[in-house]
Amino acid sequence: MISSSDQLNRYLFDNLHARGELVQLSSTFQNIVKAHNYPEGVKALLGELITVTSLLTATLKLEGEIAVQLQGDGPVDYFAVNANHQQEIRGIAKVTQATNAVGLKDLVGKGNMIITIRPTKGEPYQGVVALEHDTLAQCLSHYFEVSEQIPTKLWLFHNKENSEVAGALVQLLPDSDDKAQQLNDFEHLCQLTDTIKPEEIFTLDAETLLYRLYHQETVRIFEPQAVTNKCSCSRDKCESAIIHLGESEIKEIITQDGSLNMTCDYCLTNYQFDEQHLLQLINQNKH
Ligand SMILES: [Zn+2]
Repeated sequence: MISSSDQLNRYLFDNLHARGELVQLSSTFQNIVKAHNYPEGVKALLGELITVTSLLTATLKLEGEIAVQLQGDGPVDYFAVNANHQQEIRGIAKVTQATNAVGLKDLVGKGNMIITIRPTKGEPYQGVVALEHDTLAQCLSHYFEVSEQIPTKLWLFHNKENSEVAGALVQLLPDSDDKAQQLNDFEHLCQLTDTIKPEEIFTLDAETLLYRLYHQETVRIFEPQAVTNKCSCSRDKCESAIIHLGESEIKEIITQDGSLNMTCDYCLTNYQFDEQHLLQLINQNKH
């Protein structure tokens, strides 16, 4: 078990023009998957996507939200993970048929990864990358290469027994003119990071692990950030959605069912609206 609570660590390699991140998650991951009864392979890939989203969120230099989706022609309709700059994360896998498949290729099939960033201030933007590699980590490196043109590498880990996930990221900082030297430094850091063992990332605290990996380098570690599972659904949002249906639709629901039940896909929270409440919402909309 990871000793400290779920955390994301960011650090700089001062002499190598690169940055790094390390995330270690237990309760966040467990909370997201607990009520869903996912097949093992689905759980593992959702865990990887949660890890990826946490790492990506920390690369953003803005306040806002990020959504990462995997969609393809495989047995799972889609995987979706949302997070914000406070590292509040939620996630879901839409499984419409029973599957024993394991891994990106077999679960998602031919498809895309869609990354949507919604800054609190400013316009949203979206990046789409074809899932042309065997692993999610490789697809992400490709995404950074193509869309951002920043050499970036990710390492993802899943511990099935303890239901934990973890990951690391190394990214070049475009702050030097000596491109060849920069790429050398990047390769060097990747080689060091390649030596992370699952038993290390799931048992050691960040500081100890970083020392083991990079003790020859100068690593400046920032204040760790807590990662939590928090869904953004609410009764208010459900009400807005109902009001949006319009008077005639709501009246039809009342005639047919008498009440309305809404369940959040992510956290499975159930929101109930009885007839009286639905009539109130119609009236609210008139004022
Ligand atoms: Zn929810």
